[in-house]
Amino acid sequence: MTAVVTSDWLVDDSLAPEVAGDRLAPLYAGASTGILVLPFCGRCATPLDLEQIVCDACASRAVQWRPTRAEGIVHSATLVHRVERGLVHVDAPYPVIDVETVSGHRIIMTTAEPSATAPAIGSPVTIAFRTIADVSLPAASLSSSSTTMEAKP
Ligand SMILES: [Zn+2]
Repeated sequence: MTAVVTSDWLVDDSLAPEVAGDRLAPLYAGASTGILVLPFCGRCATPLDLEQIVCDACASRAVQWRPTRAEGIVHSATLVHRVERGLVHVDAPYPVIDVETVSGHRIIMTTAEPSATAPAIGSPVTIAFRTIADVSLPAASLSSSSTTMEAKP
């Protein structure tokens, strides 16, 4: 297999998460094939937070990772103005977005494509993936009709 190595638009490869043995390994494995895989309660199917161990609804500790529809809306968003030289590739503020997926999960991500604006709350989002080193991560792909909040000095 030949991997195409491209740099992420936002951060340095040294910031790639450690995948081996990570609790989020199913997320990374799915992302590497373009599939959004998220955790659900293995007993009652309640959507779980990425690091959640015990289900809030039924107290089960069974976690089941399943492919989900890679769509959602912007629950909240902000612009990060602190640009860490050597770790962040851009000179402009960049968005961090709390996406509520149609499966009921909440995931924090940035955008798949370079962006210096934060999307409006409620904007529809398709979840794509960006790659840092060889690790794929969810990233928001905003429809062109999404309105944005401009960066303020
Ligand atoms: Zn449950």
